[in-house]
Amino acid sequence: MKIDLKTLKRHPHESQAFHLETAGRKELLRDMGAAFLEPIKVDLVVRNNGNMFVAHGELHTCISLLCSRCLEPLTHPIDGILDFTIMEADQAGEQEASEDVLILDQDEVDVQPLVEEIMITEIPLITLCDAECSGLCPICGINRNNGSCSCARDNIDPRWEKLKNLT
Ligand SMILES: [Zn+2]
Ligand SMILES: [Zn+2]
Repeated sequence: MKIDLKTLKRHPHESQAFHLETAGRKELLRDMGAAFLEPIKVDLVVRNNGNMFVAHGELHTCISLLCSRCLEPLTHPIDGILDFTIMEADQAGEQEASEDVLILDQDEVDVQPLVEEIMITEIPLITLCDAECSGLCPICGINRNNGSCSCARDNIDPRWEKLKNLT
């Protein structure tokens, strides 16, 4: 996922738009039981500030995830904001190391590591198919959204527990 700044480099104080697309790497999401449903699309505008390049843009993709309660797959769109600076290696040496500074390599820069990092941070820790999802029965594993089981409930509602003690 590289952008080529050869042309923009010759035009200080001008901007150039880039549209990039890449199939997401499966191994990025595998550990969380998720998968890409769409390629990762990136729209960027890069401005040549004279001594460095400043990039703003957004990324979009769509993934399938498992509901945190019932483990059914669900579709989750992902949108993220990209804001970073691109510099020549000799300039960047004077700057403090920062995640948001990418280094030009023969007038090209690979934005994929940054795009992947931002995409991952946009994936929520907990995803539910529905706010009211009833989840799985901890005893028999039935999906309680689709049916009920006759497993005894170990956890008696504490309010009933109190009533029981009164009698
Ligand atoms: Zn669910
Ligand atoms: Zn059950």
